Amino acid sequence: MFENINIVLVNTSHPGNIGSVARAMGVMGFNKLSLVNPKEFPSSHADALSVGCKNILDHANVYNSLSNALEKNMITVGFSARDRKVPLPSMSLDELATYIKSNNSYTYNIVFGNERTGLTNDDLHQCDYLVNIETHSTTSSLNLSAAVQLFTYQLFLTNNIKKKPNTSVKDLATSKERDYYYSELISILEDTGFVNDKNYKSLLKKIHIIFNKAMLEKDEINILHGMLASIRKKLIVD
Ligand code: SAH
Repeated sequence: MFENINIVLVNTSHPGNIGSVARAMGVMGFNKLSLVNPKEFPSSHADALSVGCKNILDHANVYNSLSNALEKNMITVGFSARDRKVPLPSMSLDELATYIKSNNSYTYNIVFGNERTGLTNDDLHQCDYLVNIETHSTTSSLNLSAAVQLFTYQLFLTNNIKKKPNTSVKDLATSKERDYYYSELISILEDTGFVNDKNYKSLLKKIHIIFNKAMLEKDEINILHGMLASIRKKLIVD
């Protein structure tokens, strides 16, 4: 999945962040990681934080410059925590995900910068587009792996790749079974005096609304019938 996305981390200082990025990728179906001059890699800290996604670290490629890491014939997108004064078209995260989805046959380099200094202007000049993830506060700088996670999640969502829904179809009660239950309920409520000629119509409607919300299954209708039967028994005895 997402074989056409190359996640590129430039000058990463903390090896733990590289591990967390691998995890942020793996859980959403991404696996291609490129590292440009990481301070420490391979690293036991990276391995520890990759939790279940160590294979991504094992296959990561390490480069000595961003230009070497960028796969050719690709669209390159730089992620920046700040609005930068570079003459690049910018996109929101949402727009990027939609763009990638609609241009699925292209391949993409998605580039993230150093934890403290971000991407340099030189790095950004190698990009075709710039993305800034909107944040609530003026402190717009996310943790590196959080930024990668938001990207991978957004693309995952946009492509609507969800785990298969639980397909166990419930054995819902038929409308005939429900109507029969409502008539039994009304009949008992008439006996108790809760339902009378005046409120009959409106209560019948409300009972339908209340119970229809519950999407009752056959078994549940049976339980409700059991309850009515026990009330009926008690009414007769008394
Ligand atoms: N002080 C640095 C922050 C670096 S955070 C700066 O101002 O650029 C490390 C990397 O995470 C950034 O280079 C960027 O690639 C990504 N990142 C963090 N917050 C981001 C945001 N709000 N939008 C886009 N990318 C972000």
